[in-house]
Amino acid sequence: MIQDVFCKIIKGELKADVVYKDEEFWVIRDINPQAPVHVLVVPKKHYEALHDFNQKDAALLGQALLVAEKVAKQLGVHEKGYRLIINEGEHGGKLVSHLHIHLLGGKPLGSKIVK
Ligand SMILES: [Zn+2]
Repeated sequence: MIQDVFCKIIKGELKADVVYKDEEFWVIRDINPQAPVHVLVVPKKHYEALHDFNQKDAALLGQALLVAEKVAKQLGVHEKGYRLIINEGEHGGKLVSHLHIHLLGGKPLGSKIVK
């Protein structure tokens, strides 16, 4: 049984600030925001990482980007812009073993990707 925090939130075992839900994705606010807007696009189905995806999941990955754009609009950051990040593995700084996309915005983030 997988017990990561996102699976628990989706099962209703943990609370989260959910800003968007559809058949395949939930979008929740990061509990440690690094920008005025910092939300996580989380597939409801458990995928540990990109290496869990194969060709038949390609449409779901594409859908994740469309959900991000929809939520950016909903949260009012789509005009000024925002950043999407996937952290993978130890060097990527991944903290939860359930694939998710960070959406950050609400202030100028600069052009440097790594601090
Ligand atoms: Zn999970």
